[in-house]
Amino acid sequence: MKVLVLNCGSSSLKYQLMDMEDKTVLAKGLVERIGITGSRLTHRRGEETKVVAQELSSHREAIALVLETLVDAQYGVISGLGEIGAVGHRVVHGGEKFAASVLIDAEVMAALAECVELAPLHNPPNIMGIEACQKLIPGVPQVAVFDTAFHQTMPPYAYIYGLPYELYEKYKIRKYGFHGTSHKYVSIRAAEILGRPLSETRLITCHLGNGASIAAVKGGKSLETSMGFTPLEGLMMGTRSGDLDPAIVSFIMEKEKLSAEEANDFLNKKCGVLGVSGVSSDFRDIEEAAAAGNFRAQLALDIFAYDVKKYIGAYAAVLDGVDGIVFTAGLGENSPEMRESITAGLGYLDVQVDPEKNKVRGREADISRDGARCRVLVIPTNEELMIAQDTVEIV
Ligand code: ADP
Repeated sequence: MKVLVLNCGSSSLKYQLMDMEDKTVLAKGLVERIGITGSRLTHRRGEETKVVAQELSSHREAIALVLETLVDAQYGVISGLGEIGAVGHRVVHGGEKFAASVLIDAEVMAALAECVELAPLHNPPNIMGIEACQKLIPGVPQVAVFDTAFHQTMPPYAYIYGLPYELYEKYKIRKYGFHGTSHKYVSIRAAEILGRPLSETRLITCHLGNGASIAAVKGGKSLETSMGFTPLEGLMMGTRSGDLDPAIVSFIMEKEKLSAEEANDFLNKKCGVLGVSGVSSDFRDIEEAAAAGNFRAQLALDIFAYDVKKYIGAYAAVLDGVDGIVFTAGLGENSPEMRESITAGLGYLDVQVDPEKNKVRGREADISRDGARCRVLVIPTNEELMIAQDTVEIV
């Protein structure tokens, strides 16, 4: 079966068409600036790239262009839309309703609409993408795969905050966690690489990208994760503050005369390594500035590594010991320096990274010294494959 995987953001859309017979990517691409001037599609088929500049006022127009390109005589990869067996959508927030991926029907659409309040920026474009597909390729089954679903196995003592319980009942304020598809994918791969049944593994999965989160995964189930009610909690990230004394928020609002919306924007977009370093939100720029002697850039890297290390220690306690630590996403997959800083001093968990093996970038590897009990793995994430696999299973 051929599966179209869609990830709709507010003004962008990523897609991949996969052949699930042999799990190959037939084509993939990105549509940018939807609803703003200068929209364009970048389509990749193997090594070939095709760019189409065309004004696209909605996600529906963007998806129509993607479908057109997929069947294009010159750049396409299928001869007709009938070859698309199913569509898998990445949906950011599934609230408490969805602990697994689901086949989309009217009832699911109504439940997704209810989740908009929890993810006002992310869920509306996801819903638009689904509605567009319903109109453009009616009858093709569609599946929703949620970022939050994998973490629905957390116990209440992990997801309830120290707030009056009524707020959980009234507004559903609780920890949800995100990046679930990635944490799930790398957990499954880690068990395969370790040669153990997933049910017998205790893993700490570190998804370190521009957005970053860590999960404690026991027997393939998420017990705890660092992101919370929103993706703002947990590690300091590219532009997000991560954990703070909550009193700082009202203090800044008063001092800087910020509205609630402005404060939320500030904490999500102006803080993190960008705010500390004053250099960039991109770890490559920060590593470069730190190497050139920039104190604040070095401080940002030190805070980040320290944060991750603290969470690893905490999650070792949650899991009752650790069999493997997994590094994934942009920074986790590509920065030997960051992996080295994080894992130095974790000898008490029998974590011993081999400096030679740690030189790896962007491919699967076990970077531990021979004989070390807790294995340290680099596993490039593949959320699209996970979405496509769930889609095939459900359809
Ligand atoms: P997201 O999907 O959250 O946007 P990614 O997983 O693509 O993030 O990760 C982006 C981050 O990974 C950026 O901060 C980038 O600097 C970092 N990164 C990518 N490649 C490297 C590298 N070679 N060395 C250090 N950091 C890298």
